Amino acid sequence: KDFSGKVALVTGASSGIGKATALLYARAGAQVVVSDINEASGNQVVAEIKKNGGDAIFVKADVAKPEDCENLVKATVKQYGQLHIAFNNAGISGEANPIGELSLESWNQVIAVNLSSVFYCLKYQIQQMLQNGGGAIVNNSSILGQVGFANSAAYVAAKHGVVGLTKNAALEYSAKGIRINAVGPAFIKTPLLTQAGMNDETFQMLAGLHPIGRLGESEEVAELVIWLSSPKASFVTGAYYPVDGAYLAQ
Ligand code: NAD
Repeated sequence: KDFSGKVALVTGASSGIGKATALLYARAGAQVVVSDINEASGNQVVAEIKKNGGDAIFVKADVAKPEDCENLVKATVKQYGQLHIAFNNAGISGEANPIGELSLESWNQVIAVNLSSVFYCLKYQIQQMLQNGGGAIVNNSSILGQVGFANSAAYVAAKHGVVGLTKNAALEYSAKGIRINAVGPAFIKTPLLTQAGMNDETFQMLAGLHPIGRLGESEEVAELVIWLSSPKASFVTGAYYPVDGAYLAQ
């Protein structure tokens, strides 16, 4: 197993892409810290990992709060002694409005949850990884970290920012044994889309935007995250990897 003896931390792990990735890390032998603001669903993910013979704990953290991100790393080290792998994944979709009508509240919330959170998480994760001899970090950006999408300015700006943070972190820490990459999923069937008020008609319209002819599944993103986190990706750092059914190829 690729991740035996490794400790992996996933934010936003109660649902969707984060949950799928937490389950895969556990299956590959990692001890997994499942973190989210949603405690009930997070505990269910931990229960599922344990039922499959894995080892996991739940730690509640709101990634928009720097002190929660710091505590999350502390709780990880308290339980498992080290931190080797992190998937900074928690995110929200925000208000669907053009810039002139986008509320300041939604702008500030999306920037806090989707961008500042990644800075906070990187800061404390990197401090710990330097102490335990290195690691691998994957940040969840989006196809919208590369191109715009009308009525999603805050989300698009935050996800572009995640790509920039990823590049800078890699410049600063690759020679110190920490690899940092970003993934860029296209539209993936998760509660994020349904919570953004999308119905079957919208899903069909969105599927049509992907040359592959369908939306993605959380597991299809998780497989890329797992590979980027693994020793197989030992020369891979500072880059953005789409997982998008050819969305960006158009
Ligand atoms: P999801 O809604 O299924 O899961 C997101 C999780 O993040 C939830 O469990 C939620 O409780 C948690 N969360 C929300 N705010 C939080 C906070 N402040 N602190 C901690 N946890 C918080 O959504 P998903 O689609 O799995 O999204 C995961 C990531 O993937 C997000 O960053 C999203 O932007 C990104 N993404 C999603 C898609 C897509 O189409 N679904 C596409 C590209 C990128």
